[in-house]
Amino acid sequence: MFDAVIIGAGFTGAVLAERFASRGEKVLVVERRKVVSGNCYDEVDANGILIHKFGPHIFHTDDARVWKYLSRFTEWQIYFHRVKAVVDGKPVPIPFNLNTLREVFPKNLADKLEAALLKNFEYGKKIPILELKKSADADLQFLADFVYEKIFLHYTEKQWGLSPEKISGAVTARVPIFVGRDDRYFNDRFQGVPKRGYTRLAENILDHKNIKLLLNADFHDVMALRGEEIFLFGQKFGGRVIYTGQLDELFDKKFGALPYRSVAMKFETIDAEKFQSAPSVNYPNNYNFTRITEFKNIHPAHTPRTTILKEFPQEYVAGENEPYYPIFTEEARAAYEKYSAELSKFKNITAVGRLAEYRYYDMDDAVKRALEIFDELTGESR
Ligand code: UDP
Repeated sequence: MFDAVIIGAGFTGAVLAERFASRGEKVLVVERRKVVSGNCYDEVDANGILIHKFGPHIFHTDDARVWKYLSRFTEWQIYFHRVKAVVDGKPVPIPFNLNTLREVFPKNLADKLEAALLKNFEYGKKIPILELKKSADADLQFLADFVYEKIFLHYTEKQWGLSPEKISGAVTARVPIFVGRDDRYFNDRFQGVPKRGYTRLAENILDHKNIKLLLNADFHDVMALRGEEIFLFGQKFGGRVIYTGQLDELFDKKFGALPYRSVAMKFETIDAEKFQSAPSVNYPNNYNFTRITEFKNIHPAHTPRTTILKEFPQEYVAGENEPYYPIFTEEARAAYEKYSAELSKFKNITAVGRLAEYRYYDMDDAVKRALEIFDELTGESR
């Protein structure tokens, strides 16, 4: 009855479902939640403001194919994300850049540090903090220690429960030191938020006559793996399966649970039109939450009140909270590899996406990856 089964209706699942459906395949999408769009889920709250239930999601990409593909399903609102971090009690722009330098240091020191940066690095370069910390130049060493201590160390400890050195360098490198004056959080060619939200975008992608969407259904309800064979509704299934959930769950965690970091999302209504000076303000050194996001700064709304979100990182406990971020320790990678080897016994299952590949994909990476997997599986190219 179905040519393809897709487990999960986040962006990875939605894009692959649409691609297969558009080449005439009958696709079943099985989603555990009652709604689509995974952790990009958004909705208009009681204050009339579009909020992102699982934390702020800002779309940005340098990939024209990804932008063009998504633009078939949504209009975009022009939006450049801006983030500040509270350093010594004052919100300053991050990524830490040449403007930030002038906000945190007196002029003569800022001049000296700017000169040192420009002597050692090209204008426009992005330098990961762990790289800057290795600098031989005494001024840069001072700057690196300052930025590390004030912006990265305590935020990362809160966010991950680990020091920056214990997680992959790629994680802290996402927010580099920027030798320039561009205050935007991202520099990509294409940036924005979907005019009617991410959930509407995912719904539009899935709105295809060849797609059957089964919500509120665990994959165990429809699918079973026995030996090296797949059963769908009790019948042997030879079609393709795309799995976008946690890989350890597919194999009943037989090699142990893969570690994830979770976040408790606490929304608050503030009885004022506006709360803060940037869409997101990070608090590396104070409080138990990492950051506060004010959603009307992302999706403009003329409302008398405003909605803010405080993010409290916490340990992931299956069944109690949601898995957000894979924790990239050596041990976790090794466990993931075991699951991956197990999966390769099944010729027609492909694990794709942030959860199933155990990767820190942004939304654009997830869409790009889904399009590439489609090309690989079908032998079709763009
Ligand atoms: N980070 C930090 N201080 C900040 C912002 C980010 O130390 O003020 C580090 C932290 O380790 C974080 C990582 O950089 O997990 C990536 O930050 P990003 O804003 O990309 O995280 P996301 O929005 O995906 O949670």
